[in-house]
Amino acid sequence: MMPRALAWLLFAATLTACGGSTSQTRIAGATVHTLEVDYSNVHVVQQGDAVVLIDAGYEALAGETAERVRALGLDPAAVKAIILTHGHADHAGGGARLRTDLTAQLVAGAGDQPMMAAGKNEPLCPTGSIAEGRVDEDQAATYDGYGADVWIDAPTDLAPVGGIPGRILPMPGHTRGSLVVVVGDAAFVGDLFRGAIVGGGAETHFYMCDLADNRADIRALLDAHPNVKTFFTGHFGPVDREDVEEYLADQTPTN
Ligand SMILES: [Zn+2]
Repeated sequence: MMPRALAWLLFAATLTACGGSTSQTRIAGATVHTLEVDYSNVHVVQQGDAVVLIDAGYEALAGETAERVRALGLDPAAVKAIILTHGHADHAGGGARLRTDLTAQLVAGAGDQPMMAAGKNEPLCPTGSIAEGRVDEDQAATYDGYGADVWIDAPTDLAPVGGIPGRILPMPGHTRGSLVVVVGDAAFVGDLFRGAIVGGGAETHFYMCDLADNRADIRALLDAHPNVKTFFTGHFGPVDREDVEEYLADQTPTN
């Protein structure tokens, strides 16, 4: 029981952290500034004079998040797009405010259009004890509904919308409109999986309704993008490719 209790304690400590940490990671041709917003990540991808945000955090923290983006010292006019990996409140809640504050277009998966219009999470399926302890709170989370400027329903080049070369890939599963964004040797996977609370490994996300389908999606992403070395997750992380491979191997029945 101790590891689980310790993990929960650390998780709870992260939840109550105010302001959150900011970390920098170099990827091929770009810098990623990861803002921890409550326990969700907002990734600020900077390449030359173009900046793209991946995810927007909670609505209640959006003003603070916009300030933290400006405090990175970037030209605010460089922010071209905010791409939501999916429409859950902890990723999409701040999108409308950030779009206004940073004057950027907002990009989201077409499958999440109804959820974003309602501003309410669709039914969540807990995958473990941490989620079972939080599901009522997370299921009840809401935000003022809004729509995207660009809806993605097929693989799409990132450059025309974000000014940075890359691909936006629909990957329904965690939600109907979940997206993965590939830039250089990195992939931004939202809640396809999460980082470990302790250490650098990959873990099953707190909420996933079809685990076999989820594993197949992760396998397909790895196979389709052999050059991707770093996976930026919606919570904790980032995760190295070998740790994602190890996670999948541990998940696969051996007989
Ligand atoms: Zn989610």
